[in-house]
Amino acid sequence: MYNQYTSDETEVFVDPDKRELFLDKSIFKKLPEACPFFRHMPESEMAYCTVHSTRPDICQDFSCWRMLILNHIGRRVGRVMFRRSLVTEDAFLNRIWEECIDPLPDNDDTVWDKEVVRVLTRAGYTVRQ
Ligand code: SF4
Repeated sequence: MYNQYTSDETEVFVDPDKRELFLDKSIFKKLPEACPFFRHMPESEMAYCTVHSTRPDICQDFSCWRMLILNHIGRRVGRVMFRRSLVTEDAFLNRIWEECIDPLPDNDDTVWDKEVVRVLTRAGYTVRQ
């Protein structure tokens, strides 16, 4: 993987459990500027880094997120990447997202972001932007 900003090159490997997802390139119709390893689960906004296990240091340090979601003890449990893609392994957060965030109307991003913060704060999470 070549980083055009830092000129660093890192060898990465597609995670074995994400090979099929990696082969689906349909995301680039919607997000042509997305990282070549970023994918949505088909028909959803659930997002994955398909090289998560070997992702470059810069991704491990900064990740590609625009919202960070912390649980009640301040532990990072999720992040929102690109426009509205949730990455999490927290089952409760996943459920809230599917039931309360996914159905939100496709408002402009400021309105959508405020609603996400409101819903997640009410559920006990903290959102950093
Ligand atoms: S963390 Fe994001 S930017 Fe880094 S390799 Fe994965 S999808 Fe790409």
